[in-house]
Amino acid sequence: MKIRLLPAVAVLVVFSLNCVYAQDYSVSGHKIILDAGHGGADPGTTQCAGLYEKDANLDIAYKLKVLLGVAGAEVYMTRTDDSTLSNEDRYTYANSTDGEVLVSIHLNGSTDHSVNGTKGLYSKPKKDKAFTSSVHSAMSSDLGVKDLGITNFMSGVILKFSRPATIQESVYLSNTQECEMFKAGTRGNDVAVALFNGLNNWFEN
Ligand SMILES: [Zn+2]
Repeated sequence: MKIRLLPAVAVLVVFSLNCVYAQDYSVSGHKIILDAGHGGADPGTTQCAGLYEKDANLDIAYKLKVLLGVAGAEVYMTRTDDSTLSNEDRYTYANSTDGEVLVSIHLNGSTDHSVNGTKGLYSKPKKDKAFTSSVHSAMSSDLGVKDLGITNFMSGVILKFSRPATIQESVYLSNTQECEMFKAGTRGNDVAVALFNGLNNWFEN
């Protein structure tokens, strides 16, 4: 692992993740686009009282950006604050970069607060399916939730991005325990690490 000037925030995240970062990562040298779902006027799921999905997604995106940066990857973000973005804004920006893959970060929601599980979505069968499957493969075991598999879903953001893309609905934010863990500040790390592992899995192959 190449560490030059490690930002304080990276040190914090790495230490809170029990220093599992002592090897070379296959994301090193790759360019990755992170799309934090929703934002601004669009809160995403509101089924976790006191925490909107849009804010939890952005928090995960920043944590994942730090991990990827420490591992030597270059990261682009479709949003870095609470902006309202259309799907077109997102894929137009993504296509303008030289990012190789795009991960759209979402959390699921249900009015049934007992429901939980992890799901991956792909749009372009040829480009997205293998990528989605690779990123999703360890989500269930990493996060300790039921695997709801991967599904074809026509989303503007990943459909119109010209390279491999996936939406990961990592867990249900609406789930009572998940909601508490996110609000306690711990679950965002778990999701960021699970996505980080999934991206390394893709670039390994
Ligand atoms: Zn969402």
